[in-house]
Amino acid sequence: MNFKEVKERDQEYILPTYKRFDVCIEEGKGATCTGSDGKKYIDFTSGIGVNSLGYSDPEWVKAISEQAARLNHTSNLYYTLPDGELAERLCNKTGYSRVFFGNSGAEANEGAIKTARKYSFDKYGEGRSTIVTLVNSFHGRTITTLTATGQDVFHQYFSPFTGGFRYVEANNILSLAENIDDTVCAVMLEFIQGEGGVVPLEEGFVKALFELCQEKDILVIADEVQTGVGRTGKFLASEHFGVQPDITTLAKGLGGGLPIGAVLVSEKLKDVMGPSSHGSTFGGNPIVCAGANAVMKRVADDNFLREVSAKGDKLRSCLLCCGKVASVTGLGMMLGIELKSGTSGEVAQACLEKGLLILTAKEKVRLLPPLTITDEELKKGLQILWDVLS
Ligand SMILES: *Cc1c(COP(=O)(O)O)cnc(C)c1O
Repeated sequence: MNFKEVKERDQEYILPTYKRFDVCIEEGKGATCTGSDGKKYIDFTSGIGVNSLGYSDPEWVKAISEQAARLNHTSNLYYTLPDGELAERLCNKTGYSRVFFGNSGAEANEGAIKTARKYSFDKYGEGRSTIVTLVNSFHGRTITTLTATGQDVFHQYFSPFTGGFRYVEANNILSLAENIDDTVCAVMLEFIQGEGGVVPLEEGFVKALFELCQEKDILVIADEVQTGVGRTGKFLASEHFGVQPDITTLAKGLGGGLPIGAVLVSEKLKDVMGPSSHGSTFGGNPIVCAGANAVMKRVADDNFLREVSAKGDKLRSCLLCCGKVASVTGLGMMLGIELKSGTSGEVAQACLEKGLLILTAKEKVRLLPPLTITDEELKKGLQILWDVLS
């Protein structure tokens, strides 16, 4: 089948919800993948932050293959080994007390929202269910997480949207204080707004927000679907800010390429979600969790994380030397590039033609390379990006 036929079949049978680049990716190794025409691409996208160990990492492949051969699935009616191991690894690494497993970022955020509302209901009764989120945030595509997303463009067509959300400008503590009343049970945030353009929160705002919330027993939910699992050079982005949210959600990078979402809750929330309050048929699937354990074995290590930071610093300093770059935002290997001219879409298209995959976020170029990318791949990719920008 040639590329034209691939594209035509796709257009004939798949709903056109995605705008795709004109390439079909057939295989990959490390941070390099190959298109159906044999052309090689350096990958600075990790499948949007998912392939934390790159394409088909040997240890990850071994873990999921062996698990697939042993036990593929059995349902949450029974105990299995990989999900317990993964939950233990996550709790030990992060200081959280309990974990719920689902299948995606949006679903993890739904779980977090339910947990926050139930905590408040149990303790204060009805009427304290509002969740405050930040303007320009992104929390997912389900009706509720679209509502949580603080961007008007996402609040069209699909009404009625879920009630009980309120939006506050990021880094505006006065506005937050004004919007906190006795109907609010939680504030939800991304430490670095990813889809919103790789925009980190200010440290002072984060500190003040946590103090305000603690004082009023309002929960802080950190959406670390994109920033978590080593992406920023720390296991969780919250570590950069020296805070411990009541709930943290993970997804993208955790499974290393298989669908998973996780809700991590603190000690005071460990008993909020009792039997039948929540569930997921696929949640905690043995194969997926075996893959996530392979990711955790590597990424939860401090030396690994230091390397992620070092690679991120190298990328950032190289980019800042480029005359076409106005600024670089983000942390570790989650970087946003503000351009002095041209659009991020044009840059992405030009990079593709020269053999580099990159992402965009609003008007910025966004880089999320695999955490395991080699110096050589990094250099090759940077060279292409540099050529395109110059
Ligand atoms: C990608 C993303 C989501 C949605 O994750 P899905 O797995 O696509 O549901 C939610 N929050 C943040 C911060 C994300 O980056």
